[in-house]
Amino acid sequence: MQLIQSTKLANVCYEIRGPVLEEAMRLEAAGHRILKLNTGNPAAFGFECPPEILEDVLRNVGSAHGYGDAKGLLAARRAVMMHYQTLGVDSDVENVFMGNGVSELIVMAMQALLDDGDEVLVPSPDYPLWTAAVSLSGGTAVHYRCDEQSDWMPDLADVERKVTDRTKAIVIINPNNPTGAVYSDDVVRGLADIARRHNLLVCSDEIYDKILYDGATHTPTAALAPDLLTLTFNGMSKAYRVAGYRTGWMVISGPRAHAESYIEGLTTLANMRLCANMPAQHGVVAALTGRQTIDDLVLPGGRLLEQRDTAYDLLTQIPGVTCVKPKGALYLFPRLDPKIFKIKDDRQMVLDLLRQEKIMAVQGTGFNWPEPDHFRIVTLPQASDLAEAVTRIGNFLDGYSQP
Ligand code: PLP
Repeated sequence: MQLIQSTKLANVCYEIRGPVLEEAMRLEAAGHRILKLNTGNPAAFGFECPPEILEDVLRNVGSAHGYGDAKGLLAARRAVMMHYQTLGVDSDVENVFMGNGVSELIVMAMQALLDDGDEVLVPSPDYPLWTAAVSLSGGTAVHYRCDEQSDWMPDLADVERKVTDRTKAIVIINPNNPTGAVYSDDVVRGLADIARRHNLLVCSDEIYDKILYDGATHTPTAALAPDLLTLTFNGMSKAYRVAGYRTGWMVISGPRAHAESYIEGLTTLANMRLCANMPAQHGVVAALTGRQTIDDLVLPGGRLLEQRDTAYDLLTQIPGVTCVKPKGALYLFPRLDPKIFKIKDDRQMVLDLLRQEKIMAVQGTGFNWPEPDHFRIVTLPQASDLAEAVTRIGNFLDGYSQP
């Protein structure tokens, strides 16, 4: 019997680790050195786990080998709750869920919410797990446009136009992956107004909330719209550089009384997966209440800032390449002028880049961007490696066009 994948996967895409990665692994096996600019994995570029976090994990690892509470370690959930209270988000430990990364919680949040045909408003471009999780759950991701001309801010009129009577939720990714946009409080309030008028659940992915450049500030959506039922997603992978620990959290705030059945569904899903990684959850208290900070990486003189600047400066010197300078996160999402580059298939373009220059990027359409005119690179490598990579991208693009 032929085993054929479930039709549930028909519209599920996750190109950040898609066929281009398979080709990269083939090239590596053949002895090539590939510079992987495709995933936001700080550890792969020499970023260390903050010592306080490591200490707490190590101190507890010997006694953390049993299943724990399905919602998460109480001390970790309490630290998350208190952290959000200081940011103006009112929740309680029963409404904090720990997960194996934000990824698991995103899938759970959508699985518990959607019936076939329900719609969720998702930004375009997006972090593609959101679209994938909606599709896997039987829903339809309806993409609202973020406007490159306005520093990639969500186009509120487009959001409004896309609401239908099947719309159940709106996803906000702020700071944004892949664009690096950090939304002003007014923009977030504008999105919240739409959610309020149409009675939508707000899903706010804020995993880059501490990775901010050039004086940018971030306010949690839930603090700006406390009257809305909001799920806030965050975790240890980026600001604390421990993506492999697979630790994230989801905070439910706002009028929970209207959502008892939904929260019960989330609890069932949490119970079904027994618990999240227990040893790593012991690092959460130190992450949220300890002395360590990411400031030394993002403020002037910091490694992440310097790397963003190097990559941005060199990339925007390539003829035909423009880029909105990211105010946050770990990526650049440049545009290739369609008048100069004739690109019909941007996945083919990143495959050609990989084969020619041994650099892995991700095509813009992999982030549910509709045109084949963008790609994303991470700004995590050392500035000298980024400089070399961008020079090679420039060489590749020189005269590149598809038949
Ligand atoms: N949300 C966004 C916007 C991301 O960029 C990522 C990872 O790149 C995730 C969620 C997943 O994070 P985690 O490692 O916590 O699963």
